[in-house]
Amino acid sequence: MADTVDAAQAAERYVLLSALAGVPRPEPGPGPLYISGVACCRTCEEPIISARLKAVPGCCRCRECEEELGS
Ligand SMILES: [Zn+2]
Repeated sequence: MADTVDAAQAAERYVLLSALAGVPRPEPGPGPLYISGVACCRTCEEPIISARLKAVPGCCRCRECEEELGS
């Protein structure tokens, strides 16, 4: 029984150390393309309206392109 607890703690410590060591984690999303500090669509490079950026955090395309891609 004690061995099980030790193993669990060791695994937990390993996860923590991995996180501290900067092991790659999943990114939240590519986000928009910044052109001269303006968030732009990665497909058509038109500025993405701020309302959309607020509504869809991390979005990387304008609404038109997103709809064309069908997602
Ligand atoms: Zn676009």
